[in-house]
Amino acid sequence: MNKEFSAIRIKGMGTSIFSTMSRLAFENHAVNLGQGFPDFDGPLWLMEEAFNAMKEGKNQYAPTQGILSLRKAISEMQKKYYGLDWNPETEITITAGATEALYSTFQALINEGDEVIMFEPFYDSYQADVILAGGIPKYVTLKKPDFHFDFDELEHTITDKTKIIVINTPHNPTGKVYTIEELKLIAQLAVKHDLLVISDEVYEFLTFDNSKHIPIASLPGMKDRTVTISSAGKTFSMTGWKIGWAISCSKLTDAIRKVHQWTTFAVNTPGQHAIAHAFSRLDEYLPVFQKEYLERRDLLLKELKTTSFNAHIPKGSYFMMVDIPELNTMSGVTPDIDYDEEIAIELVKNYKIATIPPSVFYGKSDEGRTMLRLCFAKSNETLIAGAENLRKYKI
Ligand code: PMP
Ligand code: GLN
Repeated sequence: MNKEFSAIRIKGMGTSIFSTMSRLAFENHAVNLGQGFPDFDGPLWLMEEAFNAMKEGKNQYAPTQGILSLRKAISEMQKKYYGLDWNPETEITITAGATEALYSTFQALINEGDEVIMFEPFYDSYQADVILAGGIPKYVTLKKPDFHFDFDELEHTITDKTKIIVINTPHNPTGKVYTIEELKLIAQLAVKHDLLVISDEVYEFLTFDNSKHIPIASLPGMKDRTVTISSAGKTFSMTGWKIGWAISCSKLTDAIRKVHQWTTFAVNTPGQHAIAHAFSRLDEYLPVFQKEYLERRDLLLKELKTTSFNAHIPKGSYFMMVDIPELNTMSGVTPDIDYDEEIAIELVKNYKIATIPPSVFYGKSDEGRTMLRLCFAKSNETLIAGAENLRKYKI
């Protein structure tokens, strides 16, 4: 074939860093604290619910917008936990994970040349989705050590082409949980400049210490201009089930459903029935889930204290950022491009520990080169083994 068949819009798109690091972990027999997925199963009763649904003949296509009982369960959850009223018929769509919800939303809302502001480090699919939709990503940096953002930087990034601000709280990869003050500032700008907000809340039930998850849709003026995206994968430790959802006013939902029907049409039926059931057990399930994740976070933090990797304590999600040790001794020096990738490759090959180098999650700042991301959705044995390997890494 002499002709270039690939579309121009995918030029420059590489393989996701998560796939790359999991492959390297496998090839090098390394402990995997890289890609974000639990190395344990979600509850047995949930698997049984899926099997029951299969045995009851719930094996054919679901309605494109998702089964009504799951949409109702999500609507009830949003009311109970956040005081938000959503119509399950017209405002909630079940998607193949949050990934498809994000893709369908960006495709549905972006025109060629529209600017989309995202906070960096960003979850990598936002940038790819915006480019695939013909939009232009713009970046506002969450700055170390507490990953705060500068209000003026955000305001100055808004132009007459800006259409959407993307937020992710609790945040992957930093573990930041946006405060009410920060959300109010974003909401104020969204209302002032008539912008939409896409709010990725897949870690909505994973907050620690005194942090509280607040959906930006619950702020004044925001309900009709927000698309809230979440996923059962994180909350029920079943990332492979790929059941997510997008919630927004009926006008935006109509647009999202148009793309969704041509992307996946519908999501696996037995899984939807099982997750609908799981929501009915949320009150009893969540305290145990949250306690276990807090213990995992604290175990990894404790173990890291005896390594040369300094952790930024996460307030939410199941990730934490650690500083690359060498850089503590060369303060003020900007590390080379790909420095974090070099260290991550050295760690996985020579120290048998896979991490995620986060510079790929930045479009503007160099700060990503100074850190690595660790995932603590892992068994105690994995966390201890991972820290043991990190401990061997000396400057
Ligand atoms: N958003 C964020 C912030 C994530 O971390 C992830 C995956 N870990 C997703 C979206 C994708 O979720 P899903 O697996 O449900 O597609
Ligand atoms: N969200 C997961 C992470 O942050 C990865 C999901 C994926 O590999 N697409 O590691």
